[in-house]
Amino acid sequence: MGQHDGFLKYDRELPSERPPKDRVGDFKEIYEPFPEDKTKTQASRCMDCGVPFCHSGCPLGNIIPEFNAAVHDEDWKEAVSILYSTNNFPEFTGRICPAPCEASCVLGINKPPVAIEHIEKTIAEKAHELGYITAHPPKQRTGKKIAVIGSGPAGLAAADQLNKAGHWVTVFERESKVGGLLRYGIPDFKLEKWVVDRRIQIMDDEGVHFKVNAEVGKSINPEMLKDEFDSIVVCTGSTVPRNLPIPGRDLKGIHFAMDFLTLQNKEVDGEQIEKKLTAKGKNVVVLGGGDTGSDCIGTSHRQGAASVVQLELMPKPQAKRGESDPWPMWPMTLRTSSSHEEGGERQWSILTKEFIGNESGELTHVKLVDIEWVNQGGRQQMKEIEGTERLIPCELALLAVGFTQPESPLLDHLGVTKTNSGTVSAKDYQTNVESIFAAGDARRGQSLVVWAISEGREAARQVDRYLMGSTELPSKNDSFLSLEV
Ligand SMILES: Cc1cc2nc3c(=O)[nH]c(=O)nc-3n(C[C@H](O)[C@H](O)[C@H](O)COP(=O)(O)OP(=O)(O)OC[C@H]3O[C@@H](n4cnc5c(N)ncnc54)[C@H](O)[C@@H]3O)c2cc1C
Ligand code: SF4
Repeated sequence: MGQHDGFLKYDRELPSERPPKDRVGDFKEIYEPFPEDKTKTQASRCMDCGVPFCHSGCPLGNIIPEFNAAVHDEDWKEAVSILYSTNNFPEFTGRICPAPCEASCVLGINKPPVAIEHIEKTIAEKAHELGYITAHPPKQRTGKKIAVIGSGPAGLAAADQLNKAGHWVTVFERESKVGGLLRYGIPDFKLEKWVVDRRIQIMDDEGVHFKVNAEVGKSINPEMLKDEFDSIVVCTGSTVPRNLPIPGRDLKGIHFAMDFLTLQNKEVDGEQIEKKLTAKGKNVVVLGGGDTGSDCIGTSHRQGAASVVQLELMPKPQAKRGESDPWPMWPMTLRTSSSHEEGGERQWSILTKEFIGNESGELTHVKLVDIEWVNQGGRQQMKEIEGTERLIPCELALLAVGFTQPESPLLDHLGVTKTNSGTVSAKDYQTNVESIFAAGDARRGQSLVVWAISEGREAARQVDRYLMGSTELPSKNDSFLSLEV
């Protein structure tokens, strides 16, 4: 039923964040508790539009107006059942999704959109609190065996779906713990790892077999997988970091963002770490203005950096949507993350020219110059602005300029072809090798958790169809189709 005039009565409200000066003292999630009544009020802001654009904004096709109505009616069982019908892991997306659904929410045309992501997190946590999310192993097994390589959100979603379909699934993960970037990339202040552990435990109880410290192509022979399993799903992520090969790159103190973030996540988790890399007392320069860069900022502040500067090559984004990104498209506007609120300086239209070091080979400064973007023959070209070259102090530089592709050796071993950009070529998730499928960042390139889950689900469908001749696993298109009824 719901209530559809809440948007006339109530403003958008989200849980408060702990004050920045307090939260930089730990790695815990930044939000304060939020009363259930307030979430119910937020759900009532949903207008239950005739054409809910939020459905198509969400890569999973989450059925948002329906779960909002159930939350408003305090029918948690119904809300949980609607949400989990399209999303295996709303406890992850409810915390760390950039919420493209909210960008396409119809209310967002002239008012702040419905707080969809927060409502999703509340439903997911309520589901656990009320005991709705417990292990439900499949009643029947098909006898088919599937190897999933990589335990990030794509691998986990594929494994979960294929296990639900009754297949025996083994997930091979080269790290010592399961979760991919959920565990080793995304900092705890965005996603505490007990949330990942809780999910893995349920999957384990349901019969998914996890093999850690198992790198396919090194400790695990890919030929063995081909022989012993009926199908393989490659979910190895897009893990090759983009480098910045400028003079001075070899100096001590320049690291890829993931090396820095992974060590911190391991330390928070109590894992044994082989080396220590800390921002404590250092002037930190983060190269790259995206989410990974922002995670480096939050982590540097928590480690006690002396200063943090984030440099971005592109111009400062606009504050509001423009002609090129009207509603309901994803807005290319300035984003300020919780890590930015905690301090540091952001600079745009900056070209990093050189890393400068001392006689011991240690980084001491970064040389940079302001640039302007000029239109030349219809293409934007960068032009250095004369007289702006300068040095800024820096003892730790973190390269957060993206990831180029998945690692090639395993793909070559398996004999799967790649696209021109180096990702796995897998139309409808199936590679050129009939029994091998691919999903997540390895297939679509560096992306988002919500896309990885979506890809894992869709790939599982294709694997099930390949093995059984037909499939009853749902597709995101099912929820779009139901709109037409
Ligand atoms: C620092 C950082 C922060 C991010 N923050 C967000 C965010 O806030 N919100 C969001 O939506 N997205 C975020 N992303 C993006 C998101 O994490 C990824 O898009 C998503 O995790 C991709 O999932 P995946 O399963 O395809 O790959 P991954 O999560 O990369 O998992 C791949 C797994 O495969 C394993 N593997 C690789 N090769 C082998 C092998 N040969 N044998 C065995 N195992 C192997 C890896 O160890 C890894 O565990 C972030 C990314 C980074 C780097
Ligand atoms: S998964 Fe992301 S895009 Fe989909 S409904 Fe949740 S917050 Fe929105």
